[in-house]
Amino acid sequence: MAKVYYQDSVGVNVLQGKKIAIVGYGSQGHAHAQNLRDNGFDVVIGVRPGKSFNQAKEDGFAVKTVAEAAQEADVVMILLPDERQPEVYETEIEPNLQPGNALVFAHGFNIHFKQITPPEDVDVFLVAPKGPGHLVRRTFTEGAAVPALFAVYQDATGTAREKALSYADGIGSTRAGVLETTFQEETETDLFGEQAVLCGGATALVKAGFETLVEAGYQPEVAYFECLHELKLIVDLLYEGGLANMRYSISDTAQWGDFVAGPQIVTDETKNAMKKVLTDIQEGTFAHGWIAEHKAGRPNFNAINEKENQHQIEVVGRELRAMMPFVKPRVKLEV
Ligand code: NDP
Ligand code: MG
Ligand code: MG
Repeated sequence: MAKVYYQDSVGVNVLQGKKIAIVGYGSQGHAHAQNLRDNGFDVVIGVRPGKSFNQAKEDGFAVKTVAEAAQEADVVMILLPDERQPEVYETEIEPNLQPGNALVFAHGFNIHFKQITPPEDVDVFLVAPKGPGHLVRRTFTEGAAVPALFAVYQDATGTAREKALSYADGIGSTRAGVLETTFQEETETDLFGEQAVLCGGATALVKAGFETLVEAGYQPEVAYFECLHELKLIVDLLYEGGLANMRYSISDTAQWGDFVAGPQIVTDETKNAMKKVLTDIQEGTFAHGWIAEHKAGRPNFNAINEKENQHQIEVVGRELRAMMPFVKPRVKLEV
């Protein structure tokens, strides 16, 4: 079994007393910054003027430009959207790195796909929480945590590994467990997970189930509750105790249906499609396609997003959720 690091295996916290610049104050940024501060670390925020700049100020942080924050920090954690990192890195971060500093990521994308090439005299590592930023913060305030991966890409000082563990401890992840990986493994498994299972797989499965019921003449509201709303309750059971815990809670009829129908839905063909998705990730086809799409102004991204927001499951869902005030999105979206 892989070695898992917990609070007691961190040792001396080498980042205590060092200045940590959190670049970006979005989903991950606000969570890392607040958890580190609560754990006694010295944090400065680097972000462009705007919404998150104001939010970070309101939350009581010292907020600077990215260049200023990078300049004064010993550790620079880049928590900008992946596709925007290379530009900000080149113009504002790289010119402000000193030998012995640490450059940190929460995803290996830009290092692994060679969009960022750091100087040789800085430590480069990643600490990647395995969960959305808002949960990194919420679980921390509840005394729990989101687990994380860490990996060292470049060890200029001989202490990169200790720094990575210290950082993971600082954001609270050692409460849940921290695993060592490589930039390659983190990048490829993270992209595969979100594409095949967590985001792409899950949304496609939910939509296909909803459409099947509606096309067969059932009420869209019933189909919404059945295929989308209830999924959360099932996922909570999976999270708490794996497949067996979920199957313990459902009826035997549902469990038998799970056994006979599941393999008819996710077939060898589906698995072959997953292997193709994985190959595209490993060969860089996905990454280079996404970089090109972003550089072209995201024509396909925006068109698909617009179409998805108008899908019947979204229209019905918005109406039904408005009647359930206890079901609240974290962020109010304009659609
Ligand atoms: P977000 O999109 O939530 O955060 C974006 C932040 O970057 C905002 O504060 C935004 O400011 C700022 N920003 C955007 N462009 C610029 C710019 N040109 N100059 C300065 N600041 C800018 O990012 P995430 O938290 O989702 O992702 C950050 C990293 O964490 C990525 O590497 C991602 O792969 C990784 N990660 C993300 C997870 C998640 O839960 N989302 C999970 C695990 C890893 P403004 O408000 O002005 O737009
Ligand atoms: Mg990801
Ligand atoms: Mg049922």
